[in-house]
This record gives sequence, C-alpha cells and structure tokens, in this order.
Amino acid sequence: MIRSLYSAASGQAIPSTIGRYASAVTDYERSKNEITNYIGPNQINIPYVVDAQVASYLDQMVIAANTFKADHEKGYDTEYGNDMDEKGYIIGIELTLDHERFIELVKNQAFTVIRTEWRNREYHLVTFDYLEKVFKPENVIYKLTDNEDAFVIVQLEEPEKLGYYYTDSEDRRPIALFKALISARDDIYPLEYLLKPEFHLVKNTSLTFIDNNISCEVDTLQFWNDLSEKHRERIINNVYCENCSDTVTIVDCTIYNDPYGVLLRGKCKNCGKRVARVVERD
Ligand SMILES: [Zn+2]
Repeated sequence: MIRSLYSAASGQAIPSTIGRYASAVTDYERSKNEITNYIGPNQINIPYVVDAQVASYLDQMVIAANTFKADHEKGYDTEYGNDMDEKGYIIGIELTLDHERFIELVKNQAFTVIRTEWRNREYHLVTFDYLEKVFKPENVIYKLTDNEDAFVIVQLEEPEKLGYYYTDSEDRRPIALFKALISARDDIYPLEYLLKPEFHLVKNTSLTFIDNNISCEVDTLQFWNDLSEKHRERIINNVYCENCSDTVTIVDCTIYNDPYGVLLRGKCKNCGKRVARVVERD
C-alpha cells in the first residue's frame, strides 16, 4: 500500500502554519516522495469546472453539529491523525490509496476543483475521489470552524472494513475518509494552490511493532536495534517540535529507512502536532 498526502499548505497564504508543517515534512519528503517514479508532472492536471448542480448534492448530506476538530476521536477516528491549525482549518490531508488507485484517480482527473454556489456563498470544492463517491447522500459534511466558511466531506467507514480492530469496544468509532474539501476561504486555500496540490506518494512497506508507541519498517529494524538502548531513548526524547519551540518526546512514532540513516515520524507528546527527525548513520 502507498499513502498519498494531499497538502493544502501554501507558501504565503498561511504563514503561521506552513512553517511548522513544511518543516515537519521536509525530512519526510527528502526520502519518501516517489510520485515522480510513476507520474510525469504534466500528467497531474486538476480540472477546474463550474457546477451549480453541486449545491443540491450537498443539501442531501447531513451536516454534523460539531466542528471536525471537536468530533475527532469522539464521533470519528482518522487513520493518520489530522493536520489542523489552532482554529481547526485543515492544512494537510492524507489519503490512503494503493499506488495504482492513486495514479488511476489522477489520470482520470478524479481530483477536480469545482466552483459552486451553496447557501448563498461561493465555494471551491476539491474532490479526492470520483464524483459519485464524493456526493453519496450518506456522506457527512463537517464544518472546520464555527465560521462555516470551510468544510470537509467525509465517508464514515466501519473500521473493520479497513482492517482496524479495537480491543476496547468503547474506543470503536467509524473511520473518516476524506472525499472533498469545501472552502470559501481563498486566503487559506488559494485557488492556484488547489489546482496545483503537492502529492506525496509514500511506499508503505511492512511495519513491525516495537512497542505500543513505536513501529518500524522491517528492513530498518536492524539499524534501530543496533543502537544502544540509551541512544534510542535519547532520540525518542529529543525531537524538535516547532509548535512547542522545544525538544519533546515523540509518540505514535514510525521509523523509516532513509538514505541518510533513519527517519522518525510521529506526534509531539505535549501538543499532538506532527514531528519528524532524521538520525544519520555514523
Ligand atoms: Zn509540540
């Protein structure tokens, strides 16, 4: 399986969040972006269409009472956590797709930007799937903030259908799969950016659990195990978090192979934002 990341973080538009986000993925991008192996840049063409019909599809869906941020880990779960700023605006969306499917979606132009009018306001809607999947009446619309100027459409899927099994049934929640982003905030989600998203394709190799908190690529395990326990602890407890402006402990950590050594990706123990660190080989 391959994970693809649809990043809606743009250079100038969201200065407070982009730095954090970009720096967290810099190490990640360095070794992991394989999309150019599969698709030429000229094949990534996001069509821009105007469609007044879309509003009637949106009106058929339920709009959740809570914001997407407020309902996280209450009404739904996500596979990879959410990249949101303090207010609740999403700054990066991860889609789980095997790479054939991702390429098929790109080539068939399933990723489309639609301009439409809805609730007396003009919106841009970015789709992450074929239209019939995006506009299923059983999908749910979440407002990102109480301003109601940006929304996501999610499909709420049974976790077992995606291979997730909960040991404690009280933790069991549907998994939110992103189907579209709806925005009236051209300052946060500029049209130029929506039309030229950054797709990162990551080969998802088999992972092995080291403990509850850390998983590791199978072929990277040897490198990790060869480090002394003290050294490993020092690494885990010394990852820089831009949000906290401090070195923090990384949790929900995955260790990947990297041309320079190993790459740790996870979350800050204090604030939950995404953090990453490369440990270079000696
Ligand atoms: Zn932090």
